[in-house]
Amino acid sequence: SRGLMAGKRGLIMGIANNRSIAWGIAKACASEGASLALTYQGEALKKRVDPLSQELGATVVGHCDVTDEASLDAVFEECRKLWGGLDFLVHAIAFSDKEQLDGRYVDTTADNFNKTMFISCYSFTSIAQRAEKLMGDGGSMLTLTYYGAEKVMPHYNVMGVAKAALEASVRYLAVDLGARNIRVNALSAGPIKTLAASGIGDFRYILKWNEYNAPLKRTVTIDEVGQSALYLLSDMGRAVTGEVHHVDSGYHVVGMKSVDAPDI
Ligand code: NAD
Repeated sequence: SRGLMAGKRGLIMGIANNRSIAWGIAKACASEGASLALTYQGEALKKRVDPLSQELGATVVGHCDVTDEASLDAVFEECRKLWGGLDFLVHAIAFSDKEQLDGRYVDTTADNFNKTMFISCYSFTSIAQRAEKLMGDGGSMLTLTYYGAEKVMPHYNVMGVAKAALEASVRYLAVDLGARNIRVNALSAGPIKTLAASGIGDFRYILKWNEYNAPLKRTVTIDEVGQSALYLLSDMGRAVTGEVHHVDSGYHVVGMKSVDAPDI
């Protein structure tokens, strides 16, 4: 360890289990000396998050469902009591009804559109409002996005629309918070088999397609996403804000299937 995150206090939201991208980021930050606070969504996930938290010497600051403002306020109040301030924030939260992560985007219902947008996009803004108040000496905020925001990916549907809005919100937040030396960025991760991803139709096919066609000819791991997060969360990235950085084995630069890719 180079102690890149030594002295930094970070709130990490979105760990469901040890396959979560947020867990990869938490491990990377802890290994570089960060102090961490973690949240969980509901009692069922508390059972998973508690032991993971212990592994890193992190503090569990409580239940957080982003649709419940009181739970958000309580979590930030816990952070204030714990540290009196905050240096970084990781938002790794998204949700859409599983039935609509299959089939056609055009069939999206108003109810699921609103829910997907609120949980997967607005929650980052709502969390940023609260984090700003604790980031007296500047800070770094990071969210997670996917290439389905930029190009149509099979079955990603309304989540792609929500990620496009999330990426736009990263730019607006970067401008609003820049004067306070708070940086706001996103990592666009390649596909990884997590709980959330298991809701997406034909996900195995998408993983194989990426493996065969990405420049590095492989998919990415949560630990690799975590290592990339260190650049944006630490002072190494202190001049970087409003950025959407791809951690996808280079997949986003490719315009066509590899001529030597096997059939899937
Ligand atoms: P995950 O299932 O491990 O994590 C998703 C998290 O969102 C869970 O911890 C869940 O509790 C939380 N969440 C959902 N609704 C919530 C709510 N109402 N309130 C609070 N928390 C809520 O899956 P993951 O793949 O690690 O997802 C993390 C982020 O990474 C998401 O934004 C996802 O879209 C993004 N992402 C994932 C991939 C991938 O292929 N897995 C690729 C790019 C981006």
